[in-house]
This record gives sequence, C-alpha cells and structure tokens, in this order.
Amino acid sequence: MTPSENETENRLIIVSNRLPVTIARDKSGQWQVSEGSGGLVTAMAPVLRDRGGLWIGWSGMANGDRETLKNLLDSTTEDTGYRFEPVILTEEEVDHFYKGFSNEILWPLFHDLQTRCNFDPAYWDAYQRVNRKFALCICDIIKARDHIWIHDYHLSLVGRELRELGVYSKIGYFLHIPFPSPDLFFKLPWRFEILKGMLAYDLIGFQTLRDRRNFVQCLHLIYKGIVIRGRGKVLRTQIDGREISIGWFPISIDYEEFAKNAKKDEVRERAETIQKEMNVQHIVLGVDRLDYTKGIPERLAAFELALEQYPELQGNTSLLQLVVPSRVHIPKYMELQEKVEIQISKINGRFGRPGWMPVHYMFRAIDNRELLAFYRAADIAFITPLKDGMNLVAKEYCAANVDGNGVLILSEFAGAKDQLHRGALLVNPYDIKAVAQALRQAVLMDLHQRKMRMQTLRKSIRRQDVYWWVDAFLEAVFVHKLKGFPRLTDHLEQRHLSYRQMESSYRHDE
Ligand code: UDP
Repeated sequence: MTPSENETENRLIIVSNRLPVTIARDKSGQWQVSEGSGGLVTAMAPVLRDRGGLWIGWSGMANGDRETLKNLLDSTTEDTGYRFEPVILTEEEVDHFYKGFSNEILWPLFHDLQTRCNFDPAYWDAYQRVNRKFALCICDIIKARDHIWIHDYHLSLVGRELRELGVYSKIGYFLHIPFPSPDLFFKLPWRFEILKGMLAYDLIGFQTLRDRRNFVQCLHLIYKGIVIRGRGKVLRTQIDGREISIGWFPISIDYEEFAKNAKKDEVRERAETIQKEMNVQHIVLGVDRLDYTKGIPERLAAFELALEQYPELQGNTSLLQLVVPSRVHIPKYMELQEKVEIQISKINGRFGRPGWMPVHYMFRAIDNRELLAFYRAADIAFITPLKDGMNLVAKEYCAANVDGNGVLILSEFAGAKDQLHRGALLVNPYDIKAVAQALRQAVLMDLHQRKMRMQTLRKSIRRQDVYWWVDAFLEAVFVHKLKGFPRLTDHLEQRHLSYRQMESSYRHDE
C-alpha cells in the first residue's frame, strides 16, 4: 500500500534528529538509501504503516538539495507504507547545533560529565535556530489531527517552537539519554529556557524513575509551590492552564526477533567458530560505541586488575572488546580511541603469551549476524558504562543468550539496571576493584546460578520489549485521542502484560 492510499487523519509523525536511513554512493557513484534496522525503527514501522505516518529528520549529510533527497527517500520507501521527510542542515548548523550544543553540551552534562562541556554561546543560537527549522518542517506537513512524537535531546525545543507557530496537536517527547540532577542541570547557562521549553509538550517521557525524579526536582526549584499529582509511571501537573504528563518508560528491544535470529544454525556455527578460534574457557564481551560515557578505560583497568589479583584467570579468560567508531570528528573521541588502544596493548604486552591473548580488540561496526554470534559465543557480558540512558546491548546480549547460561555484569549507572538488577551482577564502574571481583564471581559462577539469573533477565526483557515501550508511551500521551489506534501488543500473543498491569507489578528499587 502506498502512503497516499493510507493517508488518514490521526497520522503519527515521528521526529528525530537523524532519519533512520543510511545514504551512501554505490560503486557506480549513484546515491543509495538503505533503511535503518535499529529497534526504534522496527517498533515504529507497524504504527507508522497503520497510520500512513511520517518520519522527519536530518539525513546525516550537510547541505544537499531538498527535492533530490526527497525523491531518493520516496523511491526507497515506496513499499514501506510510510514516508521519510528530510530536514536539511547547513555545515554551520551541523557544527554548532549537532556537534556543538547537542554533543558538546547536552550529551556530557546529561551524563554527569560537566567538565567535558563546552558552553559556547554560539552553540545555543544554532540550537534554537535548528529546533525552529524542525518545527517549520513539521508545520508544513501536519494536519490538524496528527499526533507528533519528538525524540531526544537534540530537539527539546521543537515543542515550544510548534506552539509559537500555533500548533495545538498533542505532542509527546521522549528523552533517550539520562536527565541529570538539579545540581548539574542548573549549571547549564540556558537551563530555564530548556526546562520551560520542554513543558510545551503534552507528555515528557524519561527512561527511568531517577531521570523523571531529577526533572521533577528541577520543576520544583523553578516553579515554587507547583502541584504534581499522581503515582506510578505517569505524573500530571498544570502549568499556565495546560495539563502536562511526566512519565518514565524504559526503552527496549525486539526480544523475539533477537532470540529467533540467535537460534539460527548459521549464528550458532559462527559462534562455535569464534569460541574455537579464541580458544579460552571464558569469553568476556564488551560492545560499545566509542564514547567516554561507556567507561571503556575503567573497564580495561578492572580487567587488568582481575588478571593481576586472580592469576587463575590468566590463560583461560579473554576479553573480546568491540568498539564501534562514533563522533570521530571530535578530538576528545580520537583521544579516547588512542587511550583505549594504548591500554589494550599494555595489557596484552604485560600478560599475553603464545596461545593466549588477554584482550581481543576490534574498532569497527559489524553486521547483525556477527554481533549475534559474538553475543552467543560470550560467557560473560561486561557492560560497565559510567552513565547510560538505557544500554540496549545489555538487553540484546540476554535475548541472544538462547543457551541461557551467560552472565551479565552491569553498571549501576545504566538505565537498564532498573529492569535487570535481579539477574545481573551489578557494579560501580568507578570501583575497579569491585568490578574485578565481579568478573571473578562471574567466571566462577556455577551453571545452576547462571541459568537462574539468565532466565530472570530474559523473562523480564521479553515482558517489556520495544513494542511494550511504544504502546506504553502512546497510550500515555494520546490515550484520549486515539480512538481505534491499534496497540502493537494487541497483535502479539498474550505474552505481554498490559501497561497498567505492569505498572502495578513492576518493582523498582527506589
Ligand atoms: N550495534 C551496531 N553495530 C555494531 C555494534 C552494535 O549497530 O557493530 C548496535 C547494538 O546492537 C545496539 C546499539 O548499537 O542496538 C547500541 O545501543 P546502546 O543503547 O547499547 O548504546 P548507544 O550506542 O545507543 O549509546
């Protein structure tokens, strides 16, 4: 079905900084678009199709001709049942809005790393301008009854801009990264503008209870006497006569898809080959984008300490560390890559010997099948970010652990901790001694305990998968307006609890 046939009122408009596509030239020099395959696009596709929806975002390239890009995107998405709409950014906007305000201010500050912030006032101007640009693009396209869902920290002011342009539709906003404590947030020179801007949305969604609590505390500080009502996942307040909901909705993965693909013979065979080639009893896996929030140097220090303190690990335990290149144009990220590589070569130089390499390292993106094989081959997932909105790798590892005997070591500061704390070995990533101990505990853990823990982890991820997440968010923001809006989980078997059942049964640790 083409988008126009299905174009109805009540469409869902998804807006994110980047479109979920990759645009690159093929061998003959022609531009080619390939659709993204992440969890978000997989979860959104059925809803967008049902509604004849749209996804608005930047293509990832500076400048470019709008019509050419639009034609290219339209021809690629002819059969998807929904369309992509490009927002064109100039080089200066990419530098100041994306690399600058988003990645040199909001990203480090919201991950509690204030000393890494570069509060350049030029970035703020560009941030506002680009948020306005996104809003104008949305305005050109939307119809009165469309529902708008804005994603992430790059676009916190799009709601405010849309309201100024006279848009009264329901607008939901989900922040994929953490929201910091008031002490940190109030360091931001533009804190009031950002906070008040976020209040233009009808629903503001966070990953965890902690993030929401931080936000609510900030509200109490600037709106003395503000009344915030409700309990459970969604709170409500009124500001300037408008009702605003504030909730937390932990994002997840397509559990069934991961589990199904991980069971395939080709993945099993590849996992066996990796195990054979690494030739150690315990494979410990790290998978991270190159980013200082992921705690890679701290993890390597803990691994080194474990080899030193527990010599019985030498010769039979290896770390397989995959680092996916990211933001390589930013000097601090290049420095991080160098630091990681020096550390790895020191560990290998210090402990390695013929027939055993302590750390196997890859600096590149790998395809899905290979990643699944890594997940299946690994006995232990070593996931120790200093701070992370959620960390999907932790969930993917468990979903792909179809033999059910892997161990998850997880940072207390990953959003995924709320959901996975009962099955994982939780660690403070800054405490390298405790992390080294956890590694030893994982290596020594008996099969029964591994299986019990992994079963708990898999069950919990299966219950609250990415479809649950989409349903929960959409219900919370559009519940009164979405007559007949199909819930994704209605299409699935009874394996999902409804959002409300989950709300009462979900046990968090606060
Ligand atoms: N991933 C990928 N290519 C790779 C390795 C990993 O696309 O070579 C994916 C991985 O499957 C996961 C995502 O990257 O879905 C990382 O998500 P996560 O939430 O763990 O961290 P983020 O990078 O979003 O901070």
